[in-house]
Amino acid sequence: MLTDYHLHLRSDDVDATASQHFTSANAELYRAAASERGIAELGVSEHVYRFAQALEVWRHPFWERYAHDDLDEYCGFVRERTDLRLGIEADFVPGAEDRIANLLQARDFDYVVGSVHFIREGAVDMDEYGAWTSGRSAEELWRRYFQTLGESARSGLFDVLAHPDLVKYWSPTDAARPTDPALAGRRRPEGDLRRYYELAIEGIAESGVAVEVSTAGLRKPAGEIYPAPAFLEMCLEAGAPVALSSDAHRPQEVGADYDRALELLERLGVRELCVFERRERRLEPIGAEALSATERR
Ligand SMILES: [Zn+2]
Ligand SMILES: [Zn+2]
Repeated sequence: MLTDYHLHLRSDDVDATASQHFTSANAELYRAAASERGIAELGVSEHVYRFAQALEVWRHPFWERYAHDDLDEYCGFVRERTDLRLGIEADFVPGAEDRIANLLQARDFDYVVGSVHFIREGAVDMDEYGAWTSGRSAEELWRRYFQTLGESARSGLFDVLAHPDLVKYWSPTDAARPTDPALAGRRRPEGDLRRYYELAIEGIAESGVAVEVSTAGLRKPAGEIYPAPAFLEMCLEAGAPVALSSDAHRPQEVGADYDRALELLERLGVRELCVFERRERRLEPIGAEALSATERR
């Protein structure tokens, strides 16, 4: 069985309204795209900061600009008017763990995808409030990012760690590096990157959290699945199960590049994926059927 649990029914555009996108018709477009690609298990995980209730967690100016919708209306819509699992993409905000827990525990999510978009130095994947313009070195930002990722795992707030090496967002792998001079200041640190991954591994191992394998990185300057193979290997050794997702923001992106993700999973010996219901996790075999459905495309 294949899954796609990290889906957004709307783009990240501040003007993409709930009334336009939280409709049965839109949810059906995602379901139809998934069926075509042999993906049976589907869930939505809208960004928590699009909801007014998120401002009880963090009053960052970026969140204040986006937090307009009602979280309970979203939950009601997904439960009553779609056949999708109910998830949410919740940011890890160090120091706000209790407030995040209150927000999450008050709703009956099937799963919570936890994300580190912001570290102390700023956002790792956008220019606005960006860490990469803070004057810190790539080494400092990578260290902080993976420390924060480990903390987010250890917090126990999340079922899945989203796009686990998001800090590489702007930095293509060596092979693709010469292409864009504008990204030169956002390079990856030199050498074996496992010294950074190591900073998160203990938290991942101790918490038992699942790690997301996300094809979204292929659509970003990084040009690589999240997480990098070496990091995924370490997560697997630490006992973490895998949740497979595309982080689609449009129906066309559902299950995008799953052939590449499945190839990676097969190479690393992953044969099962996480399935979630009311925050209970079980493992389902990927199955040869799912593999061939994806290969046929
Ligand atoms: Zn995200
Ligand atoms: Zn997302």
